[in-house]
Amino acid sequence: MTGPERRVALVTGAGRGIGRASAIALSAAGSPVVLAARSVAELDSAVDEVAAAGGDVAAIECDLTDRAQSTTLVERAAELLGPIDILVNNAGIGSSADPRPLADYRDAFWDETLELNLTAPYLLSKAALPHMREQQWGRIVTIASINGRVPSPHSGAYVASKHGVIGLMRVLALEHAAEGITVNCVNPGPVHTRVNDARIAYDAARLGRDVKEYERGLTPIGGRLEPEDIAPMVVYLASDEARMITGQAYNVDGGVNMA
Ligand code: NAD
Repeated sequence: MTGPERRVALVTGAGRGIGRASAIALSAAGSPVVLAARSVAELDSAVDEVAAAGGDVAAIECDLTDRAQSTTLVERAAELLGPIDILVNNAGIGSSADPRPLADYRDAFWDETLELNLTAPYLLSKAALPHMREQQWGRIVTIASINGRVPSPHSGAYVASKHGVIGLMRVLALEHAAEGITVNCVNPGPVHTRVNDARIAYDAARLGRDVKEYERGLTPIGGRLEPEDIAPMVVYLASDEARMITGQAYNVDGGVNMA
């Protein structure tokens, strides 16, 4: 088998974008999936899509900027579909919600970004580890960013959170390497989703460029990625076959960052 057959997956931010595509792909590979996100309408539509394809699926509405909800999400998910084998830390806030130079940064936006992009993966991973240690099998896949490797202007909290989460996941990888648990990151480049639409509109305006022309030049391969370009890497890292891969952060970015 190539997929994570019958391994229960919890995917955060699964209502749309990369999280939704990853949840659909994990389900297609055989995993029961718990979808967690803020928007009920998007969750409902994602559940319908997975169920229509024959997948075993449940949903939890949650706001992961609320620490109490991040702390209890894994247990709530396990009550629905069983112990969590695969955790996909995907929910994240981009810089586009309030892009500014660091000198003008809003402290509240700093806190919100770090809470969702760094603290929530910390709390969720900590809560999922007992399930994984119990069965001596587990996969944590965190959606970081190429901004976890290289900076962009006007995105201090985002860049710091993504650099931070890669470091955090490497520590977890080291601490649980001998327990059948692997921990890796995927670093997307510019992906055609709502947060990235806002970011490229901001950058094109900042640089005085036409947004369509700017978009075409964003990657050496050309244009932006789609969420479905990220999902196969998530499925692979969650599979049995990837058992010897841990502590890595793979760029899936159309060739933006070749370092
Ligand atoms: P998106 O905005 O399309 O989807 C975000 C999802 O997260 C939605 O389902 C939303 O409900 C959920 N979410 C947002 N805030 C939440 C909260 N407080 N609590 C719970 N759920 C919440 O985003 P996307 O572009 O698919 O991004 C997903 C991940 O990929 C993020 O971590 C992002 O930083 C990362 N990423 C995206 C890009 C890109 O270009 N789109 C590039 C690199 C990394």
